[in-house]
Amino acid sequence: MQQISPDLWLICTIFAACFGACVGSFLNVCIYRIPLDQSVVTPRSHCMSCNSLIPWYHNIPIFSYFILKGKCANCKASFSFRYAGIELLTSFLFVVICCMFPPKGAVAPLYLNTIPDIAAVPVLWVFISGLIIATFVDFDHFIIPDSVSIGGMVAGIILSALVPSLHGQSLWTNGLIASVTGLLAGFLPLQFVRVGSTFLYRKLGRIDNDEYAMGFGDIKLIGAIGAFTGWQGAVFAMISAAFYGTIIAIPFLVSGRKKLIDRIPFGPYLALGALTWIFWSERILYFYFGLLRPPA
Ligand SMILES: [Zn+2]
Repeated sequence: MQQISPDLWLICTIFAACFGACVGSFLNVCIYRIPLDQSVVTPRSHCMSCNSLIPWYHNIPIFSYFILKGKCANCKASFSFRYAGIELLTSFLFVVICCMFPPKGAVAPLYLNTIPDIAAVPVLWVFISGLIIATFVDFDHFIIPDSVSIGGMVAGIILSALVPSLHGQSLWTNGLIASVTGLLAGFLPLQFVRVGSTFLYRKLGRIDNDEYAMGFGDIKLIGAIGAFTGWQGAVFAMISAAFYGTIIAIPFLVSGRKKLIDRIPFGPYLALGALTWIFWSERILYFYFGLLRPPA
C-alpha cells in the first residue's frame, strides 16, 4: 500500500480543494450547455442577461460569487446560488476522496473506505464529476445526456484497465473484466425489465406504441456506475437509489403532496447510491454481509 507524508498530503489536499472548485465551475458550463447541444469550450462564459463576457477575475470559482454578491458586475442581474453551490460541492467531494487516501500514520476519517493506490484518486474525481453533471441535468431536464452515461461507460472501462486497483485488482485485464462485468450487471437486468414492461404495458394499452414504460437514461447511467464500481457497486446503487427514493417520498406522501414526487427524477438517487458505495462500501460489505475482513 502506497502512503505519502502528512506534509505532502496536506499540499495535495489543498490543491484538490482548488482544483475541485475549478472543475465545479466547468461542470456548471457542462450542466447548462450539454442538454442544449452547445459546445462546452466556446464561447467563453457570459452573463445570460446582458450578454457581456465575464472577465477571468470575476470568474474565480466560489469567491467571485460572494465578492460580487451573486450579481453580474455589468448589469447587476442575479446569478443563481447553484453555480457557487456546485463549485463548493465539487471541491468538497474532491477533498473527501483525498481523505480516503490518508497520509502515513493516519486512517481515513468517518469510516470512509481506504484507497490503496493514489492513481485511483483522479479516477474517482472523474467519476464524481460525471455523477454531478448527470444529477443536475436530470433535475433540470429529466434526461441524462448520452455523453455522460455512454461516455461514462467508455471512460469507466478504459480507466479500470489503466488503474485496476479501482476494483481491488492488480492486473489490467482483471480491472477490465471487473468493469465490463459491472457495466453489464447494471445495464442488462434493467434493460430486460424495460423491454418486458414496455411490451406488457403496450399490450394492456396503458401506454402508446411509441412510448416506453421506463426511461433509458437511468439504465445507461447504471451501466456507467457499474463500469466504475463493478457489479457490487451497480447492484448497491440500484437498491440504495430505491431506498433513498422511498425515504424522500415519505414526507411528500404524508403531507398529501404526492404530485411533487413525480417531479423528482431518478438519476440523482442513483448518483447518491453510487457515492454511498464509493465512500463506505468496505463498511457496508462488512457489517451487512460479513463478506470482508474488518476494515482497518
Ligand atoms: Zn449582466
